[in-house]
Amino acid sequence: MLLYIHIPFCDSKCSYCSFNSYVDKFHLKQEYMLALEVQLKFELNRFSAQEKSIESLFIGGGTPSTVSPKLYEPIFKILKPYLQNNIEITSEANPNSASYEWLEGMKMLGVNRISFGVQSFNEKKLKLLNRAHTPQNAVDAVNNAHKIGYKNLSIDLIYATLGDTKELLLHDITTAKSLPINHISAYALTIEEGTPFASKPQMSKETLELTSWLFEELEKEELQALPANRYIYEQYKRAKVNIDYHIVLEKCYYSVPFKFLQKEVEVRYSGHHVRIYYNNEIIATHPRLRTVGMFSTLSEHRTPDHAYIHDKWNPQRFDSWASSIGEYSTKFVTNALERADYPEQAYRRILAVLKLAKDYGYTEFELALMYALEHNTTTTKSIKSILDKRLYLQSSSSNNHSYSTPNLFNTHSNIRGADEYQ
Ligand code: SF4
Repeated sequence: MLLYIHIPFCDSKCSYCSFNSYVDKFHLKQEYMLALEVQLKFELNRFSAQEKSIESLFIGGGTPSTVSPKLYEPIFKILKPYLQNNIEITSEANPNSASYEWLEGMKMLGVNRISFGVQSFNEKKLKLLNRAHTPQNAVDAVNNAHKIGYKNLSIDLIYATLGDTKELLLHDITTAKSLPINHISAYALTIEEGTPFASKPQMSKETLELTSWLFEELEKEELQALPANRYIYEQYKRAKVNIDYHIVLEKCYYSVPFKFLQKEVEVRYSGHHVRIYYNNEIIATHPRLRTVGMFSTLSEHRTPDHAYIHDKWNPQRFDSWASSIGEYSTKFVTNALERADYPEQAYRRILAVLKLAKDYGYTEFELALMYALEHNTTTTKSIKSILDKRLYLQSSSSNNHSYSTPNLFNTHSNIRGADEYQ
């Protein structure tokens, strides 16, 4: 819950001010603070405020420093159970009325941030705005607050007033920055209805050039250098490290150190690079590949001395699996392993292709592989297509071939031979 308390008293009415504040009702201060107690209790009840539920308290105005800390005491007493530990309690203050005693008294009540209405450190400008303080009042008030132990101090400055020059504003900024504050709010003067400036629109002189210059001056010491490298947009996905110790990203393959075999990793990638993380630590970096089916394999990711860490999937295992199917399976596996830069790059394809033997039967599978090798088209997709369309029936080799399959095409009981038509 956030709480704002309004104090409607001011020492003088600034010429631009349309806030709810009065310079001629000081005799009502005590009654106002009593009424505030009643109102506060009512509102806490109305909003069913719980203990420690208020996370920020702001006392604004008007000028809260026109009311003595003593008169705030009952308010803080009511609020105490509702205030969170470490709450920020801000009070606005004007330099002429924020005396050392006032600042000290408010600190004792729990206020830990003061926002000073300084507006300018130029005597003439303060008079033009009908402010009630001098530049020296402002400097003293901020220094006193710092001395008393306020860690958070802020000042308001007004710009775009008739007569503002860069020189004048630079003096305001330099003086403000020389004080022990940690926040500056700069406002352009605006002309509000019902104020003394309402009939003098010329008092406000805002230009884009002046505003840009002012904010650059305010911020430039705080601005940090741009990063040496341009911001790079990264995407994110999770992936599992395959038995070939690669992850797949958009049909391209990237290696990780073999010890992460079959672990789930996090992949962050941009148009230029792929970074792979495990438990928030980077384990591999690769340039981004664009050609489908390409591998980026770093030799240091492989097992030492070409030992195969995976006891199930290794070249010997694929060889013996292939030879249990037949001659062309063996040829296919040998070719695939030889053509890969590293044998592991062929694992996925070999696995996918050899599994087709189970689905289609060894005989048909061998014929399909024979056809595929003859036509030099050994992708998983093309071999599957050969099997589905039984393209190997058109193969010259399949007819002349000495391959020792059962006489699949002539002896099947569903095939009616030439005799049928005699
Ligand atoms: S001190 Fe603030 S609230 Fe009071 S008249 Fe000036 S601008 Fe308005």
